[in-house]
Amino acid sequence: MEDAFGRRITYLRISVTDRCNLRCRYCMPEEGVRLKSHEDILRLEEIVRLVQAAVQVGIKKIRLTGGEPLIRKNLVSLVRQLSSLPGVEEICLTTNGQLLERLALPLKEAGLKRVNISLDTLQPDRYSFITRGGSIEAVWRGIRAALEADLVPVKLNVVVMRGFNEDEILDFASLTLREPLHVRFIELMPIGAADGADFGYISLQEVWERLASKFKLERVQDLPGNGPARSFRVAGGVGSLGFIGAISEHFCNRCNRLRLTADGKLRPCLYWQVEVDVKTPLRAGASIVELAGLFRQAIRLKPRGHRLEAGWSQERLMCQIGG
Ligand code: SAM
Ligand code: SF4
Repeated sequence: MEDAFGRRITYLRISVTDRCNLRCRYCMPEEGVRLKSHEDILRLEEIVRLVQAAVQVGIKKIRLTGGEPLIRKNLVSLVRQLSSLPGVEEICLTTNGQLLERLALPLKEAGLKRVNISLDTLQPDRYSFITRGGSIEAVWRGIRAALEADLVPVKLNVVVMRGFNEDEILDFASLTLREPLHVRFIELMPIGAADGADFGYISLQEVWERLASKFKLERVQDLPGNGPARSFRVAGGVGSLGFIGAISEHFCNRCNRLRLTADGKLRPCLYWQVEVDVKTPLRAGASIVELAGLFRQAIRLKPRGHRLEAGWSQERLMCQIGG
């Protein structure tokens, strides 16, 4: 279905949990967030039913995210059920990778296509600092397992932050000379716990200039499912680079997505507080046709664009909406 601005909405990001096994400094406060009660969180069979409704309005691609999706019990079974639904063409996952080593192959066998793995630094002590205690070794074991399970292309999400990892931009680019990984540089957004943190925003323009001062960058064909990212390769590299400028670039005109929060709200835009409650009607026995009507309502509510560059912060954190 097209929204009011002629954008075809085909992509649903589902937050399967608001919980996380890490506490990244730009995403969550140390004490965590006030979690929804177990009852408030969508059950797996409810997620499946909502996706059945979503395909009725043209959703083809699903991304599972969170919080940390790999801590959700029976996630493999969810992927298996979703991948068998007619109309679902692709299921992907965004994870911090801590638990991926053991789950990569079962997820692939259940029908998962690809993974995005968050890794903001290549240095173990910095990783432990930014995630408040995560293990970079576990992430690397997860990356290897994802490559071996053919969950490709494996994309690494790197949030670039002044005062934290700006000196690693070239190291990440060098990594793509050796490894078949797609490194995606992401601008820090002024939401979640990023607001009062000690590190700051760097524009992708600056990231690009730093890269171009050292490497010859070649434009390559955009990877499948790359959404707003444009793809480049360091000459001679086996991996590639992408750039996601949520702040400096206005890719709202190409936005094709809706979000489903862990507590059952459809969110037309990540940066906008309007939500459509689907959990209450679902639990009251709404039919697939009626639920599809709620997806249509959410699509019609999509705004033309966000106003994030004006410094808009919001009531829910990224981990609660499903980043
Ligand atoms: N826990 C999983 C993970 O970390 O990959 C999935 C959820 S996490 C909210 C999804 C992505 O959002 C991660 O790549 C994370 O780095 C990114 N993210 C969180 N807060 C952000 C912020 N303030 N600005 C930019 N990206 C952010
Ligand atoms: Fe957890 Fe992901 Fe947020 Fe880090 S970015 S705290 S791993 S939800």
